[in-house]
Amino acid sequence: MSEAESALQPDLPAVPAGHLVESGPPVPEAGGILTVNLGAIVANWQDLGRRAMPSECAAVIKAEAYGCGIEPVARALAGAGCKTFFVADLGEARRARAVAHDAAIYVLNGLLPGTAPAFPDIRARPVIGSLVELAEWDAFCSAKQWYGGAALHVDTGMNRLGISADEAAALAPRIRAENHGITLLMSHLVCAEQPQHPLNERQMKLFRDVRLLYRGIPGSLANSSGLFLGSGAHCDMVRPGAALFGVNPTPGHRNPMRSVIKLQARIVQIRTVSKGETVGYNATWTAKHTTRVAVAALGYADGYPRAASATDAAPGADAIVADTRCPLAGRVSMDLVAIDITALPDHSVRRGDLITLIGGEISVDELAAAAGTIGYEVLTSLGRRYHRIYRQT
Ligand SMILES: *Cc1c(COP(=O)(O)O)cnc(C)c1O
Repeated sequence: MSEAESALQPDLPAVPAGHLVESGPPVPEAGGILTVNLGAIVANWQDLGRRAMPSECAAVIKAEAYGCGIEPVARALAGAGCKTFFVADLGEARRARAVAHDAAIYVLNGLLPGTAPAFPDIRARPVIGSLVELAEWDAFCSAKQWYGGAALHVDTGMNRLGISADEAAALAPRIRAENHGITLLMSHLVCAEQPQHPLNERQMKLFRDVRLLYRGIPGSLANSSGLFLGSGAHCDMVRPGAALFGVNPTPGHRNPMRSVIKLQARIVQIRTVSKGETVGYNATWTAKHTTRVAVAALGYADGYPRAASATDAAPGADAIVADTRCPLAGRVSMDLVAIDITALPDHSVRRGDLITLIGGEISVDELAAAAGTIGYEVLTSLGRRYHRIYRQT
């Protein structure tokens, strides 16, 4: 480990098997409790790896490892044998490097102007997404004689990052002749979660054509859903992110992944609302009869989507209270959420009990659908105030 790396080493204990690691406010004071099952993340990675064999299975841990925590997730996956990680930026790469000493770490957002010297410091590799980036990286590499590797991103239809297929073709003889230290040729699928979409075939074909010009350099195309498009999408390496964290990579079909997170909130009080009264901001939800409401200490400031609110016109998300599914009542506020618990027997719930907002019957995808969004956004919005528990199994 270099000095720069050891200075960055966060103060996290190694996790002995079977032990819990916890952070945040103490449980009795915490409004929300987030439990992350690292064992399930590892099991998901192993399952995806088996499906992609003989291709290498990398892990995408950008955005705080989809809200689950970069350090614990990278440590668990590196410990299980994951050799390649993808993050969004250098800050995330530094944090991943501190716990995954030997893995390759690719930075998806590539090379921001002037940042090349930071890559050797942490042995990270930029994903080069344009010819200007490539020129800046080349100049840096030849000046410093640094050949620690970089990925070349070829755009096959996303029109976001990546050089065009034509640019890639024009560049190929030069890349082959000179040592540019390109260690990976990659592209990214636009609609992998819609297997019938014609763009999948078109992107696979285009990427296949480009790869022929870059023989000897490993290729990578598939994200989580791409992995389920068949071996034609696997190439040399697959790059799942969301599926590692329990999001269904095959929407409309049974979720093959294990669920990873549980989100619970503490009931602050239980009250009775008379028929005709409203609950919450803007009076969007009216009690149709005498209603019992549990108010729990978790809101949109904790990443619980405000769009999951219930109104008179449309129901919102559900929560599990005393083992029973109960609907939200009214708007999700910043720090609080109200649940209609009228259906529960009297005295089955008390102040201080925990309700479950994600976990058990309620998947990340279900909550996302109730909020008109996708599991990715629910996960990456997970808040900072929780008491966090990292389980090994
Ligand atoms: C985020 C990302 C992935 C992972 O995608 P998932 O759908 O979460 O599996 C893979 N490749 C690139 C380029 C990405 O930006």
